[in-house]
Amino acid sequence: DVRVRFCPSPTGSPHVGLARTALFNWAFARHHGGTIVFRMEDTDKERNTQESYDAILELWRWLGLTWDEGIEVGGPHGPYKQSERGEIYADALARLRDSSFTYECFCTNDEVDARRKASGSKIMGYDGFCRELSADQRAAFEAEGRRPIVRFRMPDGSITWTDLVRGDITFETENVPDYALCRANGDPLYTLVNPVDDALMEITHVLRGEDLLSSTPRQIALYGALVELGIAKTTPLFGHLPYVMGQGNKKLSKRDPEAHALAYRDQGFIPEGLLNYLALLGWAISGDRDIFTMDEMVEAFDIGDVNPNPARFDLKKADAINASHMRLLSVEDITHRALPFLKAAGVVSDPVSDADAKLLELAMPLVAERINKLTEAVDMLGFLFVDEAEFALDPADAEKLLNDDGRAVVARSIPRLEALREWSTAAIQEALQSELVDGMGLKPRVAFGPIRVAITGRRVSPPLFESMELLGRERSLSRLQSALA
Ligand code: GLU
Repeated sequence: DVRVRFCPSPTGSPHVGLARTALFNWAFARHHGGTIVFRMEDTDKERNTQESYDAILELWRWLGLTWDEGIEVGGPHGPYKQSERGEIYADALARLRDSSFTYECFCTNDEVDARRKASGSKIMGYDGFCRELSADQRAAFEAEGRRPIVRFRMPDGSITWTDLVRGDITFETENVPDYALCRANGDPLYTLVNPVDDALMEITHVLRGEDLLSSTPRQIALYGALVELGIAKTTPLFGHLPYVMGQGNKKLSKRDPEAHALAYRDQGFIPEGLLNYLALLGWAISGDRDIFTMDEMVEAFDIGDVNPNPARFDLKKADAINASHMRLLSVEDITHRALPFLKAAGVVSDPVSDADAKLLELAMPLVAERINKLTEAVDMLGFLFVDEAEFALDPADAEKLLNDDGRAVVARSIPRLEALREWSTAAIQEALQSELVDGMGLKPRVAFGPIRVAITGRRVSPPLFESMELLGRERSLSRLQSALA
């Protein structure tokens, strides 16, 4: 049985790399009919925040990354917050210490650094100084008031595993120093709690970012001990997902604004679009196809197909992929999803009045095919809902298109529109076409651009004649007049 885990640390705003890792775990587990365990790695009291914890859950729910066991839903291996598992770690640590897989270390960081400098060693980390202390040496350290930490004793030789993404990897343990499992005050560290939980939660596949690759030989060594002690059944398989590179081919970091996953939701991405884009950060459904659904991903996903090379994060591509998924939605669905944005921007009333709902139903079909993100509905439709008193022209667009020539076009259109008996899309189009294009000899773009800015406030808008019909005769004419003022 396949068992994978989501195990984010609730520090900071969840970034796209984290979401990508979660997605690949999810697709892998769903492909194999496996189980996903969601555990919160909240042992870092100084850096954890409730805000981050909530944001992670919000992101997972928005993306639809479901889990089967863990926080919120429970299960047989709980509790699923590491902050509530102190006794479990204390017990595991005690058993490791009793069996001499570990030793107490009294050194300070400064002492370790000083010895490294003196010896000229290139290996970072601990030098094993306290590995074989005599009883007298220990007593002397204790008499100095030092409190020991517990270190894992790395075995001799080499550690090899077949990475699910990268193939065979070998580390010589002489390059992997003995490492701390807990602080001097007894608080357990990531190095202990992460493998202990993976063992107790019977995780079979650890799929995680490449940044954790160097901790894997240490964890595999620890697993050896946990299996020997009967705490773990076996060592899980590991697969390390490629780095995500941002601008200038630098690793995308939490500091980059495009790294914040929930920002995409707030910008009007739909989850289908962001998920599809995240999937492309290291995986492809086939050589010539970028757009796919999550059902298709689950069906096709093979961890062995993940590309170990760094993946490039490309905002333009993310936008284009989102746009393709928008095209797959019905107008009703887009309306429904755009509504919170329209409300938040004050375009429609909240709760939506009957009049606003009616107008929206008529207007959305005009823009649904043109918007690439939900927020664009706000920009595109605002002009229809806004009061005449609040209506404003985009200053740059107005300067460009409502110059003397543009104003002449607007001036000429007014009497012709005033004379229209019927205010319909077809009648408006016919009138403007004959007056401006045929009458003034203008190209349609030159003829209709100024009218569009006067009516909608912007150069990019829903189709002009339909917009004028929806806006109505009175408001349309009043806007054309105001453009001349
Ligand atoms: N909580 C760890 C992190 O967010 C998880 C590491 C792992 O997947 O093993 O970095």
